[in-house]
Amino acid sequence: MNQHVTLYTVGCRLNQSETAVLADRLTGMGYRKVAYGEPTDVLIVNTCTVTDSAEADCRRVIRRTLRHSPQAFVAVTGCYAQTGVAILQNIPGVDLVLGNQYKMLLPDYVQKLSRMHKRAVPLIRHSGVIDRDDFVQDGVGAYSTTRANVKIQDGCNFMCAFCLIPFARGRERSRLIEDAIREAEHLVERGHRELVLTGVNIGQFSNGSAGLLDLIRRLEPIPGLARIRISSIEPTTIPDALLDYMRTSGKLCHFLHVPLQSGDDAVLSAMNRRYSVREYVAWVERAVRMIPDLCVGTDVLVGFPGETEHQFAETCRVIQDLPLAYAHVFSYSARPGTQAVRTGHPVPPSPTIKARNHRITQLSRAKRMQFYRQFLDQERLVLFESMDREKMFWTGMTDNFIRVGVSHSSRLANQIRPVRLTGTTEHMVLGHVMDATPSQPRKPSIPVLPSYEPAAGVTCP
Ligand code: SF4
Repeated sequence: MNQHVTLYTVGCRLNQSETAVLADRLTGMGYRKVAYGEPTDVLIVNTCTVTDSAEADCRRVIRRTLRHSPQAFVAVTGCYAQTGVAILQNIPGVDLVLGNQYKMLLPDYVQKLSRMHKRAVPLIRHSGVIDRDDFVQDGVGAYSTTRANVKIQDGCNFMCAFCLIPFARGRERSRLIEDAIREAEHLVERGHRELVLTGVNIGQFSNGSAGLLDLIRRLEPIPGLARIRISSIEPTTIPDALLDYMRTSGKLCHFLHVPLQSGDDAVLSAMNRRYSVREYVAWVERAVRMIPDLCVGTDVLVGFPGETEHQFAETCRVIQDLPLAYAHVFSYSARPGTQAVRTGHPVPPSPTIKARNHRITQLSRAKRMQFYRQFLDQERLVLFESMDREKMFWTGMTDNFIRVGVSHSSRLANQIRPVRLTGTTEHMVLGHVMDATPSQPRKPSIPVLPSYEPAAGVTCP
């Protein structure tokens, strides 16, 4: 009988893309994938180290699985396996710890080791600094979702003061273009119509003289591919040429997620971020002027050591005034080994950080609603994903990241349909499908939008 394998991912889209490739390889080797929580023979945890709670989540998953499957072979890989090997190797029941450099070899290790008895001490494969050259990544990700990720880059050289990623994932390096295109073509053959380009710092993608825009130009002609989406990208790595291309492209989504982190120059400087508030503001305003229906989302880090109430209020003000569609908020978590831990004066933990987190969350909700309302009474193309069976209610996304829900009696999964947007709920925009013919990819068109008004209803301290 086939052995059962459970794959559990903690953390970012890049981890998800790697887990998807591992899953595909393991099922190709004869393992049967089972959901987390079901009895299993092998547990693979692709870990994250970005916060204390991400690390705790990894340990919890191992403990819970061993409770119902005490004989399961437990393999741990990813960023926490890179930075926290001393902790992980002492967790009872862990059989294998693979640092990031060995992650994609995991199926071979599992195949060799999991059929033996559980190990008395875990096998560790781990190397210090990861600074390999550009890479290929064999295989094709297995996704149950409509959208699929394509890893194009790894590592980061920016060394932001709060971030452990350069230690966990090493120096920046890029996937060879031909190899990225190979996986993209296979994913489209498998039915994925939207691909999300992922990496740690994807604006730094480079293959010889080719950059991110060249890669996108090479991906666009893939027959059957309707949308290319860029995942999180650093503000200093977005050339005007990319925005220009996005403006007229029929496939590159009008979407950018650009971390702000703080709206105060002194905090940005202490964080080692490479831009000022004024530069960030000018960039967002220019981008939205060029592409009026652009969805720009951001990340904010609250409670960075030394952040005062006034500096936090400045962050709120910047978010409130800018045409941002949403803000993901993260509470600062001291990461051993980072510059912030060595030099900063901590902000008192709860309730201050909690209150700041809550304030940005509220502000983000108001921004999202405000963004959604701009598009009411317009027609947008929606790529449908899933259905609530009882209500025959389908949801999907526009290219500019508006979640849309429609009531429809026939199957819409993985179809792109024009939808007239008619109203909003707390979480999405409602609408109705305009016709029954499968639509073409978005034609280049720039809708006329009402001028931007800062978010009302949520005020800053
Ligand atoms: S840009 Fe900064 S925050 Fe992002 S991965 Fe690199 S070091 Fe971390």
